[in-house]
Amino acid sequence: MNAANKILVIDDDDVVGAIISSAASAMGLECGIAKEPSQFPTLLTPDIALILLDLMMPEMDGIEVLRLLGQQKCKARIVLLSGLDKRVLETAERLAKALGLSVVGYLQKPFQLPELHQILTTHSLPRTVTPKEEPAALAISDDEIRAAVKRNEFVLYYQPQVNLTNGAIMGLEALSRWVHPGLGIVPPDSFIPRIEELGLMDEFCWNCVDRGLAEVREIAAPDGRPLRLALNISVTSLHDLNFPDTFTSLARKHNFPAENIAVEITESGLMEFAHALDVLTRLRMRNFQLSIDDFGTGYSMMGQLRNVPAIELKIDKGFVMNMHSSNSDRIMVEKIIEMGHELQMEVIAEGVENEEQFTQLRRLGCDAVQGFLFARPLPPDQLTKWLENHRTQSGFLFQTQVRHA
Ligand code: C2E
Ligand code: MG
Ligand code: MG
Repeated sequence: MNAANKILVIDDDDVVGAIISSAASAMGLECGIAKEPSQFPTLLTPDIALILLDLMMPEMDGIEVLRLLGQQKCKARIVLLSGLDKRVLETAERLAKALGLSVVGYLQKPFQLPELHQILTTHSLPRTVTPKEEPAALAISDDEIRAAVKRNEFVLYYQPQVNLTNGAIMGLEALSRWVHPGLGIVPPDSFIPRIEELGLMDEFCWNCVDRGLAEVREIAAPDGRPLRLALNISVTSLHDLNFPDTFTSLARKHNFPAENIAVEITESGLMEFAHALDVLTRLRMRNFQLSIDDFGTGYSMMGQLRNVPAIELKIDKGFVMNMHSSNSDRIMVEKIIEMGHELQMEVIAEGVENEEQFTQLRRLGCDAVQGFLFARPLPPDQLTKWLENHRTQSGFLFQTQVRHA
């Protein structure tokens, strides 16, 4: 037996513990049972691949256990067990995700043995951690980051944004990548926070803006007008009161109209926006578009939103990716679209990966979409090819959808 194929049951119910344990040993898995929360810290070893956690226990509820697992940066997959209804399970799953945990399924009590077998077969293999899941695992020194910013070793990939009513390309979002001499292409989550910590964001940001404006002016403007370009801007950059002036002069340098440039700020960044509000307002007065990214995750919601001169909301991909399987995520998406429209904003959904999500978003009146269903973020040469293809095949998915409607 592979020592890494270990599972842990955290449940006060003896019968449930015994059923899972015998099913697990029949499959050659080693199974620990924690009946009381006090037992589980000793049983929780790093080689546990799967945890089955009861949400309702007398001494400590499953939510508290989730918090503890989050604090310990637990990497095991988690299956939630409960007799509670699916909405409670979904809420617990969202909390677990916010804590950085990986919930892979539910078992609603009383469960059937085939359901248990299915879960154990699918999820009891040892977990492999990719750099994307664990950005901190990449051993990159501060000096390497400093040198990379100085030498400007970053490139931009572009992801098309598609208008949901007619299938036209409404714009491109620029997403940074680091071309690391040893590691290859490094994703932004592994270097953006480090650049911020090292106080190098201004230099990095202006290099990106300069590159993005130059490349999109050149590659995506057959009719003379550049496509709308969305650039992610860290809220720390907005503390510089000269931000709108510097942006305006770069746009002029590239002859790129400000109304075709969207500045994306994350909703959580807006929490600190008291200092940034005048900068955002001045950007808007110069016709730059403002977009609120990752909406639904930052707790600002209505109250703050009224005060920001944004013209666009981007629904966080966490909601979009689960909207076809989770009722509460679909309701969140629906409410965000309604709210955005009431505030006269356009609403974009990111993370659209399948046709089911696409069809639902269309039905809910979302304005635009972005996601792997259409294109992954692409380097400039591949983007040019993708755009040519899109023009010739012009919105195949849209035509199919209309025919089936
Ligand atoms: P974001 O602005 O919310 O960008 C969307 C992220 O979702 C991108 O991840 C994109 O690759 C990914 N994505 C798009 N469609 C799908 C899909 O269908 N499925 C899935 N699973 N993912 C999808 P990426 O490129 O890793 O960027 C992560 C974040 O890093 C961005 O999130 C943005 O906040 C930040 N970022 C990227 N480039 C820059 C930059 O130049 N400056 C700053 N300040 N932040 C940046
Ligand atoms: Mg963005
Ligand atoms: Mg986003």
